[in-house]
Amino acid sequence: MTRTKVFGGNWKMNHGLAETEAFLQDFINTKISTDCQVVLFPPFTNLHLMQKYLKASGIAYGAQNFYCEEKGAYTGEVSLAMLKELGCTWVLTGHSERREIFQESDELVAKKTRMALEAGLTPMVCIGESLDEKKAGQTQEKLNRQVRSALEGMSESDVLKLTFAYEPIWAIGTGVNASQEDAQEGCKLVRTTLANLYGKSIADQISICYGGSVKPGNIEGYMSQGDIDGGLVGGASLKADDFSTLVNNGVK
Ligand code: PEP
Repeated sequence: MTRTKVFGGNWKMNHGLAETEAFLQDFINTKISTDCQVVLFPPFTNLHLMQKYLKASGIAYGAQNFYCEEKGAYTGEVSLAMLKELGCTWVLTGHSERREIFQESDELVAKKTRMALEAGLTPMVCIGESLDEKKAGQTQEKLNRQVRSALEGMSESDVLKLTFAYEPIWAIGTGVNASQEDAQEGCKLVRTTLANLYGKSIADQISICYGGSVKPGNIEGYMSQGDIDGGLVGGASLKADDFSTLVNNGVK
């Protein structure tokens, strides 16, 4: 089964306008494999630069977040329609930093995932266990719960539009990346849950990325695992040459 290889760059709250412009000028002049989907997730304030530089490049971009209402008195929030106007085609949902720092519940993640699909955007749905949960042997239960909850009531045709990112929380931004075996096991758990809900042939078509201290030097090992179809990358997506090398190494 050939699945689309997906490499997401989650910039989090990094890069202002000048750094973004410098990144994009370098990135679009770098040879990046076309045998995959690359997606950048910059802060909202840089999305207009993505639109300017990435139009017709084949490189997609999207937002790290949005609010789950169409419009109105929601001071400080940004809607899906606003993101679409800026040419976004992807959004992250369920990132552990949003779940933990901003208390986003499984229910809210599910609602946002559904809303993004309805708006025609591709959600990258993030799930993952904490170190305490891993130590307590609760990884399977946690991933199963997060995946099932994000998919509540979702049709087969919508599920096929999703990409997942398995990101063990203990590996995000820590430099302590998961072993290839742990990453494979997490991604496989996600695929097994998808298969239990929608059948194997649907589950086999869905791209599942690993995220957590992915670097140009370790992506190849992850990609050699049967259920890992790409990477969601924080720190190593901030420099154009690091990220392009990572993508090209991942596609090799
Ligand atoms: C992330 O932001 O989702 C992430 C995995 O970050 P890092 O690659 O820096 O661990």
